[in-house]
Amino acid sequence: MKRLLSRLPALFFPDRCLFCDEVIPYAEDGLCICSDCMSTQIFLANVHTCTLCGCPLPPEEHLCDTCQTHIHFFDRALSCMTYEKEIRSAILQFKFYHRIDLYRPMAALMVKRVLPFHQESPYDVVVCAPQSKKSYLERGYNQADLLAKRIAKDIKLPYIKNAFLKIKETPKQSTLSYKERMKNVEHAFKLNDTTPSLCNKRIILVDDVLTTGATADSLSKLLKRAGAAYVLVLTVAATEKDRLETFTPEDIAEITF
Ligand SMILES: [Zn+2]
Ligand SMILES: [Zn+2]
Repeated sequence: MKRLLSRLPALFFPDRCLFCDEVIPYAEDGLCICSDCMSTQIFLANVHTCTLCGCPLPPEEHLCDTCQTHIHFFDRALSCMTYEKEIRSAILQFKFYHRIDLYRPMAALMVKRVLPFHQESPYDVVVCAPQSKKSYLERGYNQADLLAKRIAKDIKLPYIKNAFLKIKETPKQSTLSYKERMKNVEHAFKLNDTTPSLCNKRIILVDDVLTTGATADSLSKLLKRAGAAYVLVLTVAATEKDRLETFTPEDIAEITF
């Protein structure tokens, strides 16, 4: 009965494919993808990727050119897809056009992506990238929080809401290079005083999009400083690597947090 009741909303608001918006049969696991899109969309889980940043790579290569020269503070980044076409438009709808319902299929996609890794070496806790107060007041929700909460519930891990605080407004990052972004996010975040001990924890850090990785790196650095043993960055999508400039260890030495 409880199960039937839980499916009642589907009668009025049927599940639709995340990519083509076709009405589809009720997706129990939240993975709202029609069979056509399941076979035509490119999922990074089915592609050979960099073992550090998760970008697509030719077979036999382990680290992309960028990761051979960059220093990352996270241990691994996993994305479900490349940030383009339908998934890009869905993320923009989710973030800027109040399509809050899209958190469910996106979180389901992220669960599918992370589950084999979690089963191999289990994680301890889920956190999400923070949002500024101003942005929260404008939007009314933090998209990363909605995703992280659902992922934690689905893979049965504790979720630390508001693990970070965004203490400095940062200018829009979309047109900036990695180095400019690192400068931009410098001192922008801190760990919340209410965050429980992260000592020796294996952490999943959730965000919507991985662009240059500057935000993920600065948040990961805070987690590592707090004693985290491992940080996995999990995002819906990642921008293509060839848009990034090369970033050297000398560059990173200039940047302090
Ligand atoms: Zn579809
Ligand atoms: Zn890489």
